[in-house]
Amino acid sequence: MNAIATDQLPVLVIGAGPVGLAAAAHLFERGLEPLVLEAGPAAGAAVREWSHMRLFSTWGEVTDPAAEKLLAPTGWVKPDTATYPTGGDWAESYLQPLADVLGDKVRFGATVTGVSRAGRDRIVDSDREAQPFVVHVAYADGREERLFAQAVIDASGTWSTPSPAGASGLPALGERTAARPDHLPRP
Ligand SMILES: Cc1cc2nc3c(=O)[nH]c(=O)nc-3n(C[C@H](O)[C@H](O)[C@H](O)COP(=O)(O)OP(=O)(O)OC[C@H]3O[C@@H](n4cnc5c(N)ncnc54)[C@H](O)[C@@H]3O)c2cc1C
Repeated sequence: MNAIATDQLPVLVIGAGPVGLAAAAHLFERGLEPLVLEAGPAAGAAVREWSHMRLFSTWGEVTDPAAEKLLAPTGWVKPDTATYPTGGDWAESYLQPLADVLGDKVRFGATVTGVSRAGRDRIVDSDREAQPFVVHVAYADGREERLFAQAVIDASGTWSTPSPAGASGLPALGERTAARPDHLPRP
């Protein structure tokens, strides 16, 4: 890596869901450069998987003030704050417009596959905190890239990495076996 001052590097955000995009808006507000990497093809990729479901929160509760400030100059109008969006509404009427405002600061089809500190590994770990983050990205078109960042915000959510059913954050005994597709009863 060229000698770039760590504080000149972007803050990398994993995931363009509600939390990742709000984080990017707050970074902008503080004069920091975000770079959001989203595995899916569009903003709110996880939310879109349950797009038909209605939220239990109103529109008034699911938008972020820093995001609203970024959206305001585009003519974006906040939906009626007393109504309940579906997942699809949330993605289409708020998350996607927000990602559009962020422009090339959001990359789609970009899956983060690893996060480490530059030049540090399991054996060499001295002075880790002073090293920039190094992030591996796998793109939907098969390319891979290594990016450097001053900080990483993990907003990858839990939709694709749900908690196990067992206690203490571990799978229950037998859970892994029971979850195997070949363990399911045949039709
Ligand atoms: C049916 C349902 C109804 C809900 N209703 C409400 C409600 O009414 N009110 C409420 O407050 N909450 C509700 N929730 C919860 C809410 O949806 C979550 O809290 C919210 O989506 C979390 O946002 P997030 O950005 O952290 O994660 P997510 O929405 O899960 O977004 C994470 C993003 O990261 C991407 N990603 C994952 N891994 C990687 C990777 N390795 N590299 C790059 N990108 C990656 C995913 O594709 C995804 O787009 C509901 C959830 C469900 C399932």
